[in-house]
Parts: sequence; C-alpha cells; structure tokens
Amino acid sequence: SLQGKVAVVTGSTSGIGLAIARAFAKDGANVVINGLGDAAAIETERSKIETDFGVKALYSPANMLKHEEIEAMVKLAETELGACDVLVNNAGIQYVAPVEDFPIEKWDQIIAINLSAAFYASRAAIPGMKARKWGRIINTASAHALVASPFKSAYVSAKHGIAGLTKTIALEVATFGITCNAICPGYVWTPLVEHQIPEQAKARGITEEQVKRDVLLAAQPTKEFVTVEEVADLAMWLTSDGARSITGTMQVIDGGWTAE
Ligand code: NAD
Repeated sequence: SLQGKVAVVTGSTSGIGLAIARAFAKDGANVVINGLGDAAAIETERSKIETDFGVKALYSPANMLKHEEIEAMVKLAETELGACDVLVNNAGIQYVAPVEDFPIEKWDQIIAINLSAAFYASRAAIPGMKARKWGRIINTASAHALVASPFKSAYVSAKHGIAGLTKTIALEVATFGITCNAICPGYVWTPLVEHQIPEQAKARGITEEQVKRDVLLAAQPTKEFVTVEEVADLAMWLTSDGARSITGTMQVIDGGWTAE
C-alpha cells in the first residue's frame, strides 16, 4: 500500500490525473495535486481528498511551461510532506490541425507541457528517490506514443518522445529501487477529448457526432471509451511491490486500438 508515501501528480485538477491522485490517496498516500483551473473548484477537490481519505493533500500551482515552478512543486512535496516517492507526469494538452496550418506556438506548448515538463519533474525528483532507494515514476503517455493519427503532429511527437524518456530513465535508475513506466490509454472520456471534438470536425469537414462515432470510437475495437478509474487502477498497480521488476515499459490500456 501507499501508506506513508507521498505522490505528486501533475495535471490532477481534472480527468485522469484527478482520478489517479484520488486512487493514491484512497490507498493512504499524501498527495500533491497540480493543474490549472478555477481556484475555488481546485480548493474543493483538494479538501475533498483530505476529508474522503484522511490524508494530507497540498496544491501546487506550478505551470508545466516553467521549469522553476516544476522544481518548486517537487520541493514542496519534499519539504512539506517529507518526500516525492511517486511522481506521475500526467499534465497534457491537445491541439488538432493539419501540419501546414499547425500554429507554431501550439507546437511549442505541447512539446513543453507533454514532454519537457516530465523531464524537469523527473530530474528534480530522482535525487530524493535515489537517496531513499525507492521510487515510482509513471508517465501518462498515450496510444499515440505507439501509433499516429493525422492532424496531431505535436501531440504524437511529444508522446513518442515520452516513450523514449521513460525507457532512458528506467535504465538509469534501475539499480536504485526506482521504476519508470508509461501508461498508454486509448480514448478516455475527459475534458481533453471533449474539447477536441469541434477541432476534429473542422479539420476533417464532418459533424461532431461523426467525429465521436467514425473517428474516436472507430479506432477502439471495444467501441467504448476507457474510464479514468481504469487508468487509475493501472497506475496504482505500477506503484505496488509486485510491479517492482516492471520498468521501461509502455502499459497499453486502449480497448484494442493498437492491436489493429
Ligand atoms: P484533462 O484536460 O482532463 O486534464 C489535463 C490536466 O492537465 C488538467 O489538470 C490541466 O489543468 C492540466 N494542465 C494543462 N496545462 C497545464 C499547465 N501548463 N500546467 C499545469 N497543468 C496543466 O485531460 P486528460 O484527458 O485527463 O489528460 C491527462 C493526460 O492523459 C494527458 O497527458 C493526456 O495527453 C493523456 N491522455 C489522455 C487521453 C484521453 O483520451 N483523454 C488518452 C491518452 C492520453
């Protein structure tokens, strides 16, 4: 169990990250949540974790575009809660457009948030993990770490990059009781997916209903969205002692998408 451990989950004010932070807290971890959004809504989620599970929950406002703020987030866990034992690099954004129209600032932001932020946070957390001879780094990658889809050049590039970062870190920390793995979900029903539907419709010249049926769920043989709770269960399992020999892997949870 995660009793007595401290977990930092980036991008945990919503969607998959929030489900992971809540699952870890339920298992006894003190947690640092992070992400953007309405301050009052974030405070409600933070205090709900404490009252629901009897653990400490702190909020770090670190913007994943800024390496100093990412380092401060890891420091916050270490100084206020005693450690950063589990790091989940989960914050991510999406943008959908043909490559020749893809806004340059969107490319830069996606590479920064979806890839470089995981490097900065891991870089900051690994010295403490090595000193304690235990650690778990989990990167929320995507089926798009393994296969591509049109109109997602930045996202697919960042997620393939995360696959490489995951494997490299796993090799470097293998003898320190630290594992580093990536989770590769297919389509999970979260605000990230909901918001891309109008963009997809525009890029493909089809209706929003057609995007859901013919683009998103067409890719997933189960014809169902993955749930955030299922992704959180997988993350939980990667933190367990039984998973100590699993490192440098891509854990696919995609309803069969990448089997096709
Ligand atoms: P979401 O939009 O619900 O959550 C994204 C989180 O990241 C939010 O908490 C948001 O505030 C945070 N965030 C965004 N920009 C940030 C910044 N600059 N600094 C700090 N935090 C920031 O989306 P989600 O679907 O839960 O996505 C979480 C992760 O899962 C992402 O890495 C995403 O690529 C990945 N993923 C999602 C799906 C899916 O279908 N939803 C599939 C595969 C992978």
